Amino acid sequence: SGTLFLIPTPIGNLDDLTFRALKILKQVDLLLCEDTRHTQILLDHYEIQVPKLSFHEHNSHRRIPEVVEKLKSGLNLGLVSDAGMPVISDPGVDLVQYLRKREIPVVALPGANAALTALVGSGMIALPYVFLGFLPRTIKEIKEVLNKTPQMTTLFYESPYRIVKTLEIISQIDENWELCIARELTKIHEEYFEGRAFEALEHFKQFPPKGEFVVILTPRIIEIVAPSEEKWQEEITLAIEAG
Ligand code: SAM
Repeated sequence: SGTLFLIPTPIGNLDDLTFRALKILKQVDLLLCEDTRHTQILLDHYEIQVPKLSFHEHNSHRRIPEVVEKLKSGLNLGLVSDAGMPVISDPGVDLVQYLRKREIPVVALPGANAALTALVGSGMIALPYVFLGFLPRTIKEIKEVLNKTPQMTTLFYESPYRIVKTLEIISQIDENWELCIARELTKIHEEYFEGRAFEALEHFKQFPPKGEFVVILTPRIIEIVAPSEEKWQEEITLAIEAG
């Protein structure tokens, strides 16, 4: 049977497409797109002609049998979302699971992803980190999820419509929580806002935000590791020797 290629696309700057992604985009027999019109902008930019089929949140389940049929007939397919890595806060996981279970080849290509780009660019402690995708809807659920891993750097995606509300909730948990908000990554107005939760809240209330965001919260509880017994002994011995 054919192969499904998971193809990452740029998150703003159209140059952020790998040579391999470009090659595979040109080779596949059919491209599954979250939004065919959106993907057409990328395809036009690189002068790629490929048949497209819509594959989004609302039709992906219905589409699976059709897609499997095509793969089984030997066609190679690509899957792209509107931006970045397919599957990451985007459709595709059900299809990948379905194909893996039936040993139909799936190849994931590495490439652009907003969360990792923000983490690397922010200078925040990178490990360990947890990525939450989009936050849940209710205040209670948001607080629960944010309180789960206070010892880890926490990343999530946010829209301009909810960022102020979300910062209010974070400030309620800890107004001094240090964070970084990466906006419009790889685009003309790319910026990183660094500060405490209350400062971010004031800033974004005053300047209603536009664009797309990744929020990075620093760990709130940093474990202080006590030196081991052996280490103590070593230091005492050294101190005695030094007189
Ligand atoms: N699959 C994508 C990826 O790999 O990053 C994420 C798709 S998700 C539907 C879209 C969200 O990603 C946006 O709401 C925003 O939070 C984040 N995002 C995407 N592009 C971004 C950018 N250029 N700058 C900052 N955040 C971005």
